[in-house]
Amino acid sequence: MIPRNERNRNFQPKHRKVRFFPILLRLAVVSCVTVLMVLIPQEAADFQTASIEQSQSTNLPVIGNRSDDSALNNEALTDKLERFAQMTTEKKERRAKEAAYYLNEQIADQVMDSDWSLIPSTVSPGDIILVRHNQPGKVNWLDKDYKLEPFGEGYFTYLPIGIGTKPGTYKIGNQVLTIQAKQFDTQSIKVTKQMASMKQETDRIQADQKKINLARSQSSPEFLFTTTFIQPVEGVLTTPYGYTRYVNGKLDSRHTAIDLAAKEGTPIHATNDGIVALADNLYLTGNSIYIDHGMHLFSQYAHMSKLLVKTGDKVKQGDIIGLVGTTGFSTGPHLHFTFWAHNVPVNPNLFFGTTPFHW
Ligand SMILES: [Zn+2]
Repeated sequence: MIPRNERNRNFQPKHRKVRFFPILLRLAVVSCVTVLMVLIPQEAADFQTASIEQSQSTNLPVIGNRSDDSALNNEALTDKLERFAQMTTEKKERRAKEAAYYLNEQIADQVMDSDWSLIPSTVSPGDIILVRHNQPGKVNWLDKDYKLEPFGEGYFTYLPIGIGTKPGTYKIGNQVLTIQAKQFDTQSIKVTKQMASMKQETDRIQADQKKINLARSQSSPEFLFTTTFIQPVEGVLTTPYGYTRYVNGKLDSRHTAIDLAAKEGTPIHATNDGIVALADNLYLTGNSIYIDHGMHLFSQYAHMSKLLVKTGDKVKQGDIIGLVGTTGFSTGPHLHFTFWAHNVPVNPNLFFGTTPFHW
């Protein structure tokens, strides 16, 4: 057996030689890796991975590769990529926001991928349509310009088809609107001499009209509703929309609203979400409310016994806004109800249980 100090003495020189070279080798490898890590920052690798992912989801070409971009400023590229990713997210959000308004995903895609859409494309005099275009601009309809307002991924306006519009086909954008002929009945009502004389108070009537025009001149440039419109009161339909009305045998006006007879004091509900544009006692329509539903669409409620909201109030679909009455030019308790689009009265029946996006 070799003594311990002997053994050490024998092995020590050999040991030193073997250890020295691996240490040098290791140092060299570590130095190279460190230099490489400094030369190829992590951003470059991240950028490459992310740009491939982005191009796959958006069909855009891959922006460079690791070796070509080594001279470019990686920080600037990262900023660009972040902005691009943000834009993509915003675009997706706008599309999802608009898509939620349509009946289903298939219809949403069909409309949102079209240049122009008329919703619907076949109507009758007294109706209303919603126009969508994929560009900003305006629509000229019966010698009047209607500005297209941005919403979601598109640009929108309502077009009122006035009750006197001639049936036929009309070009709007690259689409064709068909207006079919429709018969409206007549109605004769008898009122007292005193009531008939109300219509001669032209000064009061004109002063009220100024208030109404002012209230309807401004509208939120967005759709304020998210759900379907409801009939504001359960009642008996006494005068349908569009009737030509004779008062005491004399031609009076077109009844561009519906009359729903109900007991005095019956609650009246907001047809949908919106902002009260006017809540006031007017001479002919009595206690009256106009609600702005956005994009120049208003609902009107008249002859109420009581107003339960005031101008400027925000309302939700179904909120009680007033009570049935017979104030103003009225022969009995009822709600006179209609919609106005850009100051033209349109058929309220089109709205019940649906929304313009489902037409
Ligand atoms: Zn009426």
